[in-house]
Amino acid sequence: MRNFLKLSLVLICQIAFSQKETADYVVKNVSIIPMNKETIIKNQDVFIVNGKIISITKSGRSRIKAKEIIDGEDKYIMPSLADAHVHLPEEEKDLKRFFDLNLMNGVTKLRSMRGTWEHKKWRDKYNSKEIMAPKLYLSSPPISRNYDITEEQMMAYVKTAKGDEFDIVKMMSIKNQDLFIKFDSICKSYDMKIAGHFISNPKGIVIEDEIIFKSSFNSIEHLGGLVGEPKKLESRVKALKENNIYVCPTLLWYQIAYGLFNLDDIVKIPGMEFYDEKTKEEWVEKTKLYREKTGKEAIEKELAFYGKEMEERLMVLKQLDAVGIKLLLSPDSSSKYTIPGFSVFTEMQLYKKAGLSNYAILKAATVNFADYFNDATYGIIEEGKSADFILLNENPLKNLNTLQNIEGVFYNYQFLNKTDLERIRKEHVLN
Ligand SMILES: [Zn+2]
Repeated sequence: MRNFLKLSLVLICQIAFSQKETADYVVKNVSIIPMNKETIIKNQDVFIVNGKIISITKSGRSRIKAKEIIDGEDKYIMPSLADAHVHLPEEEKDLKRFFDLNLMNGVTKLRSMRGTWEHKKWRDKYNSKEIMAPKLYLSSPPISRNYDITEEQMMAYVKTAKGDEFDIVKMMSIKNQDLFIKFDSICKSYDMKIAGHFISNPKGIVIEDEIIFKSSFNSIEHLGGLVGEPKKLESRVKALKENNIYVCPTLLWYQIAYGLFNLDDIVKIPGMEFYDEKTKEEWVEKTKLYREKTGKEAIEKELAFYGKEMEERLMVLKQLDAVGIKLLLSPDSSSKYTIPGFSVFTEMQLYKKAGLSNYAILKAATVNFADYFNDATYGIIEEGKSADFILLNENPLKNLNTLQNIEGVFYNYQFLNKTDLERIRKEHVLN
């Protein structure tokens, strides 16, 4: 039935289209990385009408004409990328830069993970056909154990989140298990999903695994509950799988927080040119000061300790991938030395270090994200889907580095070519 519907949709698109005769765009003679399986389809023409892929044929075989030709020879297209754990800027004036840094890196989908009720207005304003900004998925303001919250308040909170079309409610922590059970049952009655931290914290508020895994949680951040608890790892991995709960590891955030970087190198990573010198100097000074104050020996000890912890994270990630847990990619670039958009690639490198295949890494940033939000309009490249893809010089299944030099981004009815991307870069680059 589903296939029938899909086929009908494609046919309707094509019939409606053949009367119009000219497509808006064609990407000519390109290799497609569709991302619904690990494959590459060479020498294809991809026709786009009104922001949708209406036809994909062997190059030169279609009689469809196009107003604009995008030369795809010796190039590749794959679905655009998604960052599953972002913190939107606090002020609206900083949004444009934030959006542009993501677009420059082919990131056209963002899941906000530290919401405010204001964000609804931003989404309504910026997610329009006229404005080129990544699609925003919103989480509500976080629930935390610091709040004394009554059942009525929880009800009002979930109702507001639902009414304002927030995509998920964010949970940092909660006072106790009873409250969690009540909160979860409210979420279930409103069909709201919970995303956030695994609830197990030093203050002793522990919620039984059985309750968490059967709750409305649909994504767990930061490898919570999976690192530092080796005895529980196996059963929790099994529970994640059984309940189709996604995992967003945010490795880069830990790498930075743990100080696992060389100070001379980190200020030279791609993207740093978008920060002003003063900000960078402050970061460096703080790091230096901390390292001096702690002392050489203690720092070495600390780095060895965190280095081990990081290794555990990488091992857990590898294990999650091996059993088919769906991963969502995000650097959580909310701290020093990280930069929206650019850090997505750094996070990918950490997945690579963990031993994941390029295909698995790219899935975590494309099709898994679309699946997570149950959105069948993007995430893979095929007829009937939105034209939402990036143009690359090399096959990313073989070489991820090609993502650092994106040739073009098709998104929201528009194609940003290399010149457009360069213009956007120049608008924001500081040094
Ligand atoms: Zn975060």
